[in-house]
Amino acid sequence: MAVLKIIKAGDPVLKGKAKPVAHITKHTKKLLDDMAETMYAAEGVGLAAPQINESLQLVVLDDGSGLIELINPEIIEHSDDMEEGTEGCLSVPGYYGSVSRYHAIKVRALNRRGKTVIYNAEGFLARIFQHELDHLVGTLFIEKADNLQKVD
Ligand code: ZN
Repeated sequence: MAVLKIIKAGDPVLKGKAKPVAHITKHTKKLLDDMAETMYAAEGVGLAAPQINESLQLVVLDDGSGLIELINPEIIEHSDDMEEGTEGCLSVPGYYGSVSRYHAIKVRALNRRGKTVIYNAEGFLARIFQHELDHLVGTLFIEKADNLQKVD
């Protein structure tokens, strides 16, 4: 495994729409391994493939309760209610802001064995999912945040 360079805001790869993974290969699994190692090394709670310069629909995240790997994830249901919460991003170091997200979501994805998996998430975990899935459509949290602040 390897710790990869994290792409910073301003790079066009972060603004693109990530491609679905057509075939899960050894390369896909290595990317997931490297993404997890990179996320943990950076002390982040989530990382999407565009952030390591791969325009693919891959996400890793961990809210403290274990690693979740997502291939071609999509939100298939969400609550009506939204909630505000503070977010940051490994691609926008030092900045924090308040973002409105769905309180609860249901996400469908593939795992690394190509099996369909469903996650029901709420609160902080639902927030991480939504932040990371936004990366797959080229959206950064700073475009949605109120009260964006730089912390030195
Ligand atoms: Zn991010």
